[in-house]
Order: sequence, then C-alpha cells, then structure tokens
Amino acid sequence: MTGRVIRAKGRMFTVVAAGREYQCEVLKKVKQTEGVTPVAVGDEVDFAFDEPGPGAITAVHERTSKFSRPRVGEENKGIEQVIAANVDQLVIVVSVGRPKFKQYLIDRFSVAAVKGHLSAVVVINKIDLKHKVDLEHVQEIYAAVDIPVTLTSCDDGRGLDDLREILKDHESILVGHSGVGKSSLLNAIQPGLQLRTNEVSDATNKGTHTTTTIELYPLQFGGYVVDTPGLKVMGLWDLDKYELENLFPEFKPYLGQCKFARCSHVHEPECAVKQAVSDREVFAERYESYVRIRNDL
Ligand code: GDP
Ligand code: ZN
Repeated sequence: MTGRVIRAKGRMFTVVAAGREYQCEVLKKVKQTEGVTPVAVGDEVDFAFDEPGPGAITAVHERTSKFSRPRVGEENKGIEQVIAANVDQLVIVVSVGRPKFKQYLIDRFSVAAVKGHLSAVVVINKIDLKHKVDLEHVQEIYAAVDIPVTLTSCDDGRGLDDLREILKDHESILVGHSGVGKSSLLNAIQPGLQLRTNEVSDATNKGTHTTTTIELYPLQFGGYVVDTPGLKVMGLWDLDKYELENLFPEFKPYLGQCKFARCSHVHEPECAVKQAVSDREVFAERYESYVRIRNDL
C-alpha cells in the first residue's frame, strides 16, 4: 500500500491511506539506505500491514522538499533531522513585541526556505501591541524578494482572514520563536484545532531520548499545517559559506561581478554586492543579515 505519514511519534509513524490510519514501524533496510531521518512527517511511503499491526514502512518516495535542522544536542556533528517532508510553504511568524521583533530571524528562515525549496511568507503578529516597528518598510523589504508580509492580531482578529487564505490548500510549516503566537494563530483560524505539544527535541545533552511527536494537521478549509517550537538554527545545519550568497535572491544580478572570484561580499574591495547596497538596489537590512548569518556559519 501507499500512504502519507501524518504523525511521527518516537519510532512509530501514522500513515494515512484511503482515509484510514495505520500505525507503522520502519524496516531496518529503509533506515540503512536513507540515513538518519529515514521517514518524516509528510513523506509518501510504501507499507505493508497485517492486522492487528503495527505495519512496516518498506520504502520512502523521493521528497519534493524538506525542512531540516541539526539533531538536538548534536549540532556540531552535522546530523540532519528532517522535520517535515513535501510541504510547500514556510510560514515565518514573528511579533512586533513580546518577544521583540528581530528582522534577522526572518532572514535566517527565509534562507532556510530557499535552501529547502519552499516558498516563504512572513506573518507579523500582535500588531495590537504598542510598538516601533516600521511595518510598511518591512513589507517593502520583503516585496523585493517576493515574500508577502501579512499583519495579524489574535486579540482583535485583524489579518486572520488573510492568514486563512495563505494557508488554504497549501502544506505549510509554521516556524518562529516561542511566544510569537503560532498556536494562538492556528487556534484562532480553526477553533478546536487541538494542537498537541509538538516537542521535537528528541535527544538531550546527556544523550537520553524523550518521545518526539510531529504532526501534520488537516485544516477544514483545505490544506495542512505543521507547527514547530522555537528553533534557532533550523534549516541552516549544512550550509556552506559560499552557498549563502545564492540564498539571497536579490544578490543574483551582482554575483560574478565582484573583483575577486571568491568574494565573500564582506570585506573585499570592488564588491558588486556592496556597491548594490550603496546604490540602494539591495536593502541594507538584508545585507546586514547576510553578513551576520555568514559570520555564524
Ligand atoms: P507560540 O509559542 O508561538 O505558539 O505562542 P502562543 O500562541 O503560545 O502565544 C504566546 C503568548 O502571546 C500567549 O500569552 C498569547 O495569548 C499571546 N498572544 C498571541 N497572539 C497575540 C496577539 O495577536 N496579540 C497579543 N497581544 N497577544 C498575543
Ligand atoms: Zn562581492
């Protein structure tokens, strides 16, 4: 049989096929051939099932997209944990305050989206709070890289219809620091959506494992969402310094135009990217994020 993984809990996966849920484990064979995260939420899989189960996942179909992070507690080992596969949209949630608005975070996630072959949208929540964020300017910055910015408030309901439109018929993964309002937003657009704690930390520093649950939630108006807790390093786990420039789409016209072939666009003279920033063809805020992300790599 063929189905879709909608829930991953520890070593047990829930596969949906023809409207029915099947609990399945993963055959050892699959583990060895596919690496560390052989099966993730969102994967299309082949599986065998005999009552009363559990069934066995025998093969994973090729992924059209994936969203990964380094395995918790093993950030420096370069071990990939796929959080969700075959989703098409990254919804980057931030707030104007509580916690403080940080553009740099949006850019980190936007880079992860390009890298993971996902389209990105930004949701700025809590606009009912008093704040000093220049929202129009933020919208202008992201319009230049085709990332729509939607303003929302769970308190007064502004923007919630827009958010529904954004999520409708898409398979979205919601990311953002904890406290920005991801669960509140999902509960506001679909009351009764019983979000469980999507705890993805599956390995602590001491190497002990706790149970992991990641789930794909169906939306009544069409589409699915995956909600994840506040992850700082998500999606950038295997990024190369020289790859980063390609993940800022607005740099593209200038790449290859710098004096030095392997220009980092940070300190070299006659850099076409820095020139574009001075000429206001590239937003300085985006360039600053580029430098900061590069320094972190
Ligand atoms: P999550 O960690 O991203 O899922 O954030 P939560 O949904 O748990 O929200 C964190 C806190 O922010 C809660 O106390 C919410 O009531 C509050 N909150 C969420 N959305 C809004 C909003 O639009 N305006 C205001 N003022 N508070 C909000
Ligand atoms: Zn350069």
